[in-house]
Amino acid sequence: MEFLIILIILVFYGISYYIKKRVVPKIKGALGEYKVSTKLKRLKKKEYLILNNVLFKIGNSTTQIDHIVICKSGIFVIETKNYKGWIHGHENSEYWTQTIYKYKKKLRNPIKQNWVHVYAIKKILSEYNYVKYFPIVVFAGSGKLKNITTTLPVIYTNKLLKTIKKLNEQENLSYNQMKLISDKLHQFNIIDRKENRNHVKQVRKQIRERKKKEKLKICPRCGNGLIKKKGKYGRFYGCQNFPKCRYTLSIN
Ligand SMILES: [Zn+2]
Repeated sequence: MEFLIILIILVFYGISYYIKKRVVPKIKGALGEYKVSTKLKRLKKKEYLILNNVLFKIGNSTTQIDHIVICKSGIFVIETKNYKGWIHGHENSEYWTQTIYKYKKKLRNPIKQNWVHVYAIKKILSEYNYVKYFPIVVFAGSGKLKNITTTLPVIYTNKLLKTIKKLNEQENLSYNQMKLISDKLHQFNIIDRKENRNHVKQVRKQIRERKKKEKLKICPRCGNGLIKKKGKYGRFYGCQNFPKCRYTLSIN
């Protein structure tokens, strides 16, 4: 009898842990993306071509992009985040922080994440090397942006359409070119569910490996050692291979 109770408790904790770690982030992410895609639907169909939740496979790695908007001035690449609390961050740092009262958590710098997405699209659209790119990070949750130092737009959902329209001023692409670009991106989009699951697995593996290396003070980007350095924002770990490699890690 006792054994059975213990077993039930363990199973219960296992399930709630799984929900907290795996299910909730997924739902939150999907909700944020849904919020942004409904906003984007309000853009005129003849002026803006939209792709939501795109998955590209380039070489051996896959890249997931929340939203792509193609218009006359170029391509908007939108990364959506759904966070609570206060968000702090710097355009060039590896991590940003989320604080909720005394609770502190690191998150990957979404601007850097989004640059990876821009490069992936550039690779697919290599014959359109004249296209201009506009990366945007959107915070769709209740999170408050505090001390975000950046030259690129990091905004709330309600500023998204205004930001896009404001940056869409130059006529760089004809509608025909926009359509060709959109078709090409659609062709490269893997909507396959199995690929999607593999992508999630691969990302988790990459994160685990990066954390392992950071613990051992090895640069995850180039494999050289990470050494303590002093900068104008205090002490931090930097790559030995600087200035060739600019990887940094905060000391905590
Ligand atoms: Zn390095």
